[in-house]
Amino acid sequence: MSRSDRSLSLAGPHHLGVGSTRLAAWGAGTGTMVLVAALFGFGADHPALVLGVGWGALALAVLLVIRGRYVGKPAGVRNDGVFHRSLTARGAIAWALGIAFTAYYVALYWFPESIAGITRLFDPLSRLLRGRPADQWFAYGGFYTFAVLVMGAKFLVKYRHSRYQTWRTVSVMFFQLGFAFLLPAFLALMQRPEFYFSYFWPLDYDALWPGTVGSFSTTTLGLWAIGIGLVLTFVATPVLTFLYGKRWYCSWVCGCGGLAETAGDPFRQLSDKSLKAWKIERWMVHGVLLLITLLTALLWVNSALEGGWLGSFSQGFAKAYGFVIGAVFSGVVGVGFYPLLGSRVWCRFGCPMAAYLGIVQRFFSRFRITTNGGQCISCGNCSTYCEMGIDVRSYAQRGQDIVRASCVGCGICAEVCPRGVLRLENGDWKLRLEER
Ligand code: SF4
Ligand code: SF4
Repeated sequence: MSRSDRSLSLAGPHHLGVGSTRLAAWGAGTGTMVLVAALFGFGADHPALVLGVGWGALALAVLLVIRGRYVGKPAGVRNDGVFHRSLTARGAIAWALGIAFTAYYVALYWFPESIAGITRLFDPLSRLLRGRPADQWFAYGGFYTFAVLVMGAKFLVKYRHSRYQTWRTVSVMFFQLGFAFLLPAFLALMQRPEFYFSYFWPLDYDALWPGTVGSFSTTTLGLWAIGIGLVLTFVATPVLTFLYGKRWYCSWVCGCGGLAETAGDPFRQLSDKSLKAWKIERWMVHGVLLLITLLTALLWVNSALEGGWLGSFSQGFAKAYGFVIGAVFSGVVGVGFYPLLGSRVWCRFGCPMAAYLGIVQRFFSRFRITTNGGQCISCGNCSTYCEMGIDVRSYAQRGQDIVRASCVGCGICAEVCPRGVLRLENGDWKLRLEER
């Protein structure tokens, strides 16, 4: 009897064959070793070749996983072994990965010289796209985009039965590659400030600070960038969230959401579903939104008074926010802890944009997840795979629509429901008003 014949899964065998497993492990190991060796100067004379081999080996590993687990098998989530595999159940591999990610982020923010060997691998690509050697942020953007594209391809095959999952994944891949990687590189090539149109205040926390506005307003393009940022923050965000819920941004545009949905997909079941976590989440995420709003206002008052009022305090406040929220939370914890705490820790507990979108979604949006409670068999798939830690099943059991500020509208709860209980809908606004 072959290994796959012994699977007890009702949906059929999902195991990777032994040969494919070995090849995938070989590819992942080789890719990682090549990139780690670059830290110590390996391949300094042939950076494009070394980067190509490293990325190629990692992509091959993902390709083998796609072929072994998803091609020719039923589409959708795999329940078998999720809470037993080392990678997806906080085992040794998950810890090793978490430590490696965290170490990379610490080096990226505070010790960039320690990863200079990896940064140098990106020089040829950076010269081609930007006309200058790479810095650590270009290299980081390269890895980030590679992860979204490769793991996005895996996600597309896994959820190929769902048009909604297909389109939103294509969308996050497009925004990451086009708006967060190629366009800023092109602006740099044109000797213009690198502007990221898919990030705006309050997520891009210093976008509306007096210093940033002052430096951008010296050029026509910079003025346009500020104007577009203001429209995106104060007009597009409330209008689109009213129409479609926060998903238009968190699950279709944002790079943080894009990485969480693609590279973070194997870890979505690790989110904490407890009431305590929900309480902490509400205090933290709204606290961060309050902080950045107060800080931005304070900096403008201070600037109007030419630094005469709380000058050093506001600068210290700005530095502390950049360190704690901009670096430690969004980077080190937000991505480094994927394999241990789930893929949306930052979005759930720390992102001020998610808090802003969530307030509009909770009180002024047509978006909701409707439930057909009579069909629910209480299997719990929906709650298990909700990356935002929402206990979806408890709503389904009561037949109650889900209108939660934190829901990013990823739609995975609806995909994994075996009974078709859940639907993501943009309801009638008048009905919503009458319900209140
Ligand atoms: S409730 Fe459903 S759509 Fe909302 S975040 Fe959770 S899994 Fe995604
Ligand atoms: S996945 Fe569907 S059937 Fe299972 S608990 Fe959730 S709503 Fe009920």
